[in-house]
Amino acid sequence: MLIRDAGHRRPVEWGSYPLEALEKDPLVAVAEAETAPLSSDRYAAPSTPLGQVTAQYTDHFRQFCDGEVAVVRAPVGDAQRCSAEVKGAIYYLDASHAGICRVPPSAWLADKVSVSHDYAAVLLVAYGRAPETDNLAYGWLDGASHEIARMRACEIAVSVAGHIRQLGFAARAHLDGDTLVDLDRLSVLAGLTQRTPAGVASAFVGNRFAIAAITTEYPMAVDTALAAQASVTSWRYWLGIGGATSGRERNRRLRRATHLSRYPMEQVKRVDRPTTLIFDDEVPRVPKRANFFARAAFGDLGSKAQQEVRRFAYKHPLTAGMMFPLRCLVPHQDGKVSAHRTNGLDDPVANSLAVRSLSYHLGADLVGICEIPDYAWYSHHLDGSEIVPYHKYAVVMLIDQGFETMEGASGDDWISGCQSMRGYIRGAEIAGIMAEFLRGQGVPARPQTNADSDVLQIPLVLLAGLGELSRIGELVLNPYVGPRFKSVVLTTDLPLAVDRPIDFGLQYFCNHCMKCARECPVNAIPFGPKVMFNGYEIWKPDVERCTSYRVTNQKGSACGRCMKTCPWNRVVSADGSLIHRLGTWLGVNARWLEPLLVPILVFLDDRLGFGKRNPIKRWWMDLEVVDGVCRTPKATNERDLDIRKRVSAEKTPVGYYPANVMPPPGSQEPFKANHKNAIARAAEVETVPGAVARREAGGSTPEHYIPIRQVEGR
Ligand code: SF4
Ligand code: SF4
Repeated sequence: MLIRDAGHRRPVEWGSYPLEALEKDPLVAVAEAETAPLSSDRYAAPSTPLGQVTAQYTDHFRQFCDGEVAVVRAPVGDAQRCSAEVKGAIYYLDASHAGICRVPPSAWLADKVSVSHDYAAVLLVAYGRAPETDNLAYGWLDGASHEIARMRACEIAVSVAGHIRQLGFAARAHLDGDTLVDLDRLSVLAGLTQRTPAGVASAFVGNRFAIAAITTEYPMAVDTALAAQASVTSWRYWLGIGGATSGRERNRRLRRATHLSRYPMEQVKRVDRPTTLIFDDEVPRVPKRANFFARAAFGDLGSKAQQEVRRFAYKHPLTAGMMFPLRCLVPHQDGKVSAHRTNGLDDPVANSLAVRSLSYHLGADLVGICEIPDYAWYSHHLDGSEIVPYHKYAVVMLIDQGFETMEGASGDDWISGCQSMRGYIRGAEIAGIMAEFLRGQGVPARPQTNADSDVLQIPLVLLAGLGELSRIGELVLNPYVGPRFKSVVLTTDLPLAVDRPIDFGLQYFCNHCMKCARECPVNAIPFGPKVMFNGYEIWKPDVERCTSYRVTNQKGSACGRCMKTCPWNRVVSADGSLIHRLGTWLGVNARWLEPLLVPILVFLDDRLGFGKRNPIKRWWMDLEVVDGVCRTPKATNERDLDIRKRVSAEKTPVGYYPANVMPPPGSQEPFKANHKNAIARAAEVETVPGAVARREAGGSTPEHYIPIRQVEGR
């Protein structure tokens, strides 16, 4: 607890509740097998506007309950290993409970056709917290909590079912309203719930949950059902014995108002402007075509990157399972705004509280709100059509990528792509449901997701007070989850009270820490000082190097090693290590100690081995999907810290791609990125004092800030 967090030795596949500590009884399975099958599914469709919108999202996911099975089976491990992997994946996707059981004949619904699946992976998703009664969101969420948990359970079940099918084994997801099996019975058999007079209940979350299951032919080691009298030993639960999330941490979260995150962001110093300069009048608006993943797809980064970017997101079987549900949400990002505007939506403060409470209930980890400056809108769509800014506010939501799995990974191994997709799918569903709901209330709104965003998210994360720009460059770092998140934005015209940027001393910290730059496999992060780039004061990374590596990585599915190794990637809760909790508290509340503390913390972080892999947290199998079939990869990145690496800004220069060398809007042909020229361009990039002096002297905006606006010959 002094140096490592309480959960350090707990495998991911055990989950965050101590189910393993409950008494088991194998005879329960015998009794369940002898009971007559139920005759039907008991789903009742929601009747409230938010419940109905959420049910539409469940329906989008439901189309992936079943699907094609890969023609060749993957080289998977024994039943124990397969069980750990499936439960690990379910917990990784944030289920409250997960368990495995055999499927007895009595578990198939009497009025449905059973299939030849012998095993079931069963999961529970607990309801989010109900807002306070004077919060507008109380009325919005009334009657919708079950549907929201059901949608989340469906997202997890279809993703994991898709994963198992990609491994070459038949699998079908089941949920209330679309099930062939008795979900209550399977939850009892898998050791998640106990029978009660009213149905089934969990020893930890009562009866406030939704259940989903995946039946499959994939052989897995099974769990034992809970004894009828099994109950939680309160002091063990309270202290978090065994590394489970402690009762005192859960209680701390419950005591916070529902519009606040679990992290005390309200204690962080607020400032009028971000801690890094932004010359608002100089920041160029750029086309979507200039995004480096788009550039890879158009062939700007060469034929290998162009070829690999197509399979990049489908390279690991779990991401393959997540990609179809994620992509299916894109057509629903836009929709009709109801002509009838609901009364009572004119108070910006009340609206902000409600929007925050709703987003936390749906599963966001951190939320901030800001007005959208024009420069945060892309200038043109990929087809070259112009984007005219259309909404005033941004609700910026962060999805934690999950400390545990990142702790087990090198950052650029075979789970790295899943880290991103997990955040993207969760973000797309949260912002999508919120936007659809607001449009139904007569308020214009649109989710801006990883799959289709009209806004640049980084300036919005900064302006919404969710972090400061870090050395990693185009990445804002939060004081509680560090760089370990994906963002999603809801743009809207709903009147909202906005947040201010924050200052928690990160500029000083990153000035004295090079860990991300040292650990980056391709030296894409600068060792030198910040520069002025396209109107931003920034440690400018070499985006071409980073994108090319992530897309073409042959020993992993992507890369996030900078996030993984950053000292701010840690657990800050009642269960976090004392050293991290104290360091964060001092960082937020005793800034005057910075000059003394930062060098010590940076030194200790390396020497104590933070950023190394923790093998206990490794639940996934290293697999690569090639031509639709899973195989053992030729190699896997197995990196740990490289403390002895010599670092030098001069020996590892980075390439710059300012606005005047970005591809023009609508360009469909490759617009080659020349890395040699990009490095040479360092000479024209302004230093921060140089840019300030230029402006004070009345100097004009540098020419390299002006984007090319025309495709040649058009
Ligand atoms: Fe480097 Fe990987 Fe981070 Fe890109 S994602 S900057 S390649 S460590
Ligand atoms: Fe800043 Fe160090 Fe984290 Fe890099 S690793 S972002 S330099 S704190």
